[in-house]
Amino acid sequence: MISKGNFLLLEPSELKGWLDKQKITRSIDKLQVHHTAAPNYTTRQVINGIAKQDVWKCLEGMRSYHLSQGWSGTGQNMTVLEDGRIAISLDRDLNKTPAGIKGANTGALCIEIIGNFDQGGDTMTVAQKQAVVHLYACLALKLNIPIDTSHIVYHAWYTASGAWLGDYQKGKSSKTCPGTKFFGNGNTRSAAERGFIPAIKAEFNRMKEGDGEPMTSEEKKQMEELKATVESQAKWIAAQKAKENMECPKWAESAYEFYKPYIADSKGSYDFWRQLVINYRKKVGIKLQSEV
Ligand SMILES: [Zn+2]
Repeated sequence: MISKGNFLLLEPSELKGWLDKQKITRSIDKLQVHHTAAPNYTTRQVINGIAKQDVWKCLEGMRSYHLSQGWSGTGQNMTVLEDGRIAISLDRDLNKTPAGIKGANTGALCIEIIGNFDQGGDTMTVAQKQAVVHLYACLALKLNIPIDTSHIVYHAWYTASGAWLGDYQKGKSSKTCPGTKFFGNGNTRSAAERGFIPAIKAEFNRMKEGDGEPMTSEEKKQMEELKATVESQAKWIAAQKAKENMECPKWAESAYEFYKPYIADSKGSYDFWRQLVINYRKKVGIKLQSEV
């Protein structure tokens, strides 16, 4: 986690912990989906998933551009980089209404995904794809937002004035954002319902149920056997421990009475009591009789 200038940069693994600590004071029921178009993998000089351009330069560059448009700060609340890192806009924290979709920002959170995901543009890296899916799942969990296309919305499903079209309609939609090849299958509502939304749901369930794969019946049986072994060993150890420091047993009572003035403690090990009995028998001349 690094904070510099107007941004806080998180590793994907730091996101959930960070989000858990955030106090949300406004009502948020929509998560916008955008691509930046520019900057993109070309301006970032991405080679094998690694960008040559400085990350802070990229982030501050976007902010400067937004300010030059007369906006009060960075437009988006969050930005996902090509390497999966997530930048939080410090001048547009989660409690500030974003400037993401003109006329449709109230109650929304704006997430910009670095890249141009129109046909012929960038192919999202695996790291970025995983981070994007993880981010939306974390936000759905944190903000209690249903994972569907009424609440996780593409910019393209609105007109330029912010009217809800409910789908990408060429000529009517304000933009193609998040790209006609977004998530590999495009920016339509049905594409989202087939690709992006199920991926978020799967990540959401993975997070809620924990990372583990469900056990097979054979694994369950092995687990039960192991548990039984461990339990019986624990019982045996407890019995041994009890034997190490036991009150005088019935069979050693006479010996104990005899030697009591010489013994400080009323407790001793099994072997101690046994030896005491042997000494006592020797002392008083008791010999064991054979049974016949
Ligand atoms: Zn957009």
